[in-house]
Amino acid sequence: MPFDSIPALLDANASDHTALDAPGRRPMSYLELRNQALNTLRALNRFGVGRNDRVGMVLPNGPEAASAFVSVACAATCAPLNAAYRQEELEFYLEDLNAKALIVPVGEDSAATAAAQKLGIPLVEMVTEPDKPAGWFALQGDPGGEPARAGLAHSDDVALVLHTSGTTARPKIVPLTHGNVCASAANIAHTLRLTPQDRCLNVMPLFHIHGLIGAVLSSLSAGAQVICTPGFHAMRFFGWMEELQPSWYSAVPTMHQAILSRAPRNEDIIADSRLRLVRSSSAALPPQVLAELERTFRCPVVESYGMTEAAHQMAANPLPPQPRKPGTVGPAAGPEIAVMDDAGNLLPQGATGEVVIRGRNVTPGYDKNPEANAKSFTDGWFRTGDQGFLDEDGYLTISGRLKEIINRGGEKVSPREIDEVLLDHPGVAQAVTFGMPHDKLGEEIAAAVILREGTELTERELRDFAAAKLADFKVPRKILFLTEIPKGPTGKVQRIGLAAKLGLG
Ligand code: AMP
Repeated sequence: MPFDSIPALLDANASDHTALDAPGRRPMSYLELRNQALNTLRALNRFGVGRNDRVGMVLPNGPEAASAFVSVACAATCAPLNAAYRQEELEFYLEDLNAKALIVPVGEDSAATAAAQKLGIPLVEMVTEPDKPAGWFALQGDPGGEPARAGLAHSDDVALVLHTSGTTARPKIVPLTHGNVCASAANIAHTLRLTPQDRCLNVMPLFHIHGLIGAVLSSLSAGAQVICTPGFHAMRFFGWMEELQPSWYSAVPTMHQAILSRAPRNEDIIADSRLRLVRSSSAALPPQVLAELERTFRCPVVESYGMTEAAHQMAANPLPPQPRKPGTVGPAAGPEIAVMDDAGNLLPQGATGEVVIRGRNVTPGYDKNPEANAKSFTDGWFRTGDQGFLDEDGYLTISGRLKEIINRGGEKVSPREIDEVLLDHPGVAQAVTFGMPHDKLGEEIAAAVILREGTELTERELRDFAAAKLADFKVPRKILFLTEIPKGPTGKVQRIGLAAKLGLG
């Protein structure tokens, strides 16, 4: 592994080479990015924030979110949050994080600022300027006391914390050290054979591990460039391709499908494109979509298997001349991968069981959650909650899921969190949220609800109730009102398979 901390990674790259770029902006060089990180360090230390203090960030997607991720991580622990969250959700996350400060765009009055004010968390305002290089920002805040640990981050400091949807009602905190994220970035750079000549078009949100490590840090660890867009827009994608000439992009399968649907009217741009590869991760890529992408872009499409707890990449299909096997997620690509039974025995090749991993990219463990850690680590192996098997060449097939999360086009939703919100409605006696099949998203959120006697409630009213407390992507698209919820063989409600039992596919 070439680097064990983000400051070391930034230091290693050629000063005059471009690090960050964005549509319609002037690029930022590695030297400028290093200066950005040092200015951020000085500002945060002045606000009383130092190493391993958690700094929440609720920012629009773009080059400043990318530079803020690496810059904040050089001085403290970066905790990027989804700007689509409602105030209640943000209050939960910020309180759970014990955030020392929250970075928001200057002058903003939002759910995030309201949540921080309610919790008494100091706001740090980010000032940006369109004429400055992509990723430039200044921070404004009130001076704080001397931070307990000032100065640049060390390799075993926590660089990044993200929440992960779990089987528990509320998401768990995943701390990732500088060593973890740098190992993962190097693994991805190695798999994709990234060089300083590469230009990644990032369309992924920069509050999720895929964009943060799969696109941004992997590129920076190879001295390459990242073009930061405001997020995925199928209508603007080909315009960006034409203007910015990326050599690769990474996305979730639903985005690839949306891109394909607009490809026929962008044939000229595709003919002139310099794409060297296309990467897919975070949800299963149907082999038909992979084949159509390869036909369209005339370059290899590599599917990778990632997870927050692994700082993203675990397995990946290799680039030619090694074979890609559609329908598999490829061989281990960084950590070791094995398959384990319920009792914790490692299984022979070909046998189906729980996918387990170990390696330098894997989190040291969930924060303040000994119960989850006891369940998730067996003999030093981390249990992914995914079910799969390895073929004779070591290629992994994900065949199912043992954990309860719903994978809505790559966005993970904890069904219990939705149950809790539905149960807050005075008319709801029982609620069970589950994933139902969806042709584009893979899975969509559905809920089965039993109403209290005498209650009259429409699906629309209950969805509106949920939408006031949950970000849009978590609101059940389908709510069934039942008098009984089907039980599994043990008499317990089983979310997995419930959609089929209820005739939802
Ligand atoms: P996240 O922590 O959001 O990255 O979600 C991790 C989960 O996404 C994994 O545990 C898998 O269930 C799922 N996942 C990621 N990549 C793939 C893939 N290529 N195929 C199938 N499932 C995937």
